Amino acid sequence: MEDRIENIKKQLHSQSYKLTPQREVTVRVLLEREQDHLSAEDVYLLVKDKAPEIGLATVYRTLELLTELKVVDKINFGDGVSRYDLRKEGAEHFHHHLVCVECGSVTEIEEDLLGDVEDIVESKFEFDVRDHRLTFHGVCKNCHN
Ligand SMILES: [Zn+2]
Ligand SMILES: [Zn+2]
Repeated sequence: MEDRIENIKKQLHSQSYKLTPQREVTVRVLLEREQDHLSAEDVYLLVKDKAPEIGLATVYRTLELLTELKVVDKINFGDGVSRYDLRKEGAEHFHHHLVCVECGSVTEIEEDLLGDVEDIVESKFEFDVRDHRLTFHGVCKNCHN
């Protein structure tokens, strides 16, 4: 955890931003709940438990900054809510998601399955792929039993 904070601090410094105490609380919440896909509102409620003086606007600005600096990815699973997902350390690509339409569970796939697709896109469309995101909607193992 402290290593990750240290790395995120460096990432901010390299772009001339500081990991202020307020920003650090938000980062800690994201690290503690790394498996979850929290909305700004969710993050705010968890931040408030640790630091009641921090307002929603501050949390929101921090999340936007972290998104801009590619510390987190903003993702939408089709329910109109933006969720924030920490990038895996050293990950070249955003991880993929399996969203269950029955129970709403979200499973992460960390392997990059799209190497071949990228090659086709790059050659056929002369498009220089930097990243991609992939969400499958379906029924999870627990729900189809
Ligand atoms: Zn995720
Ligand atoms: Zn399910």
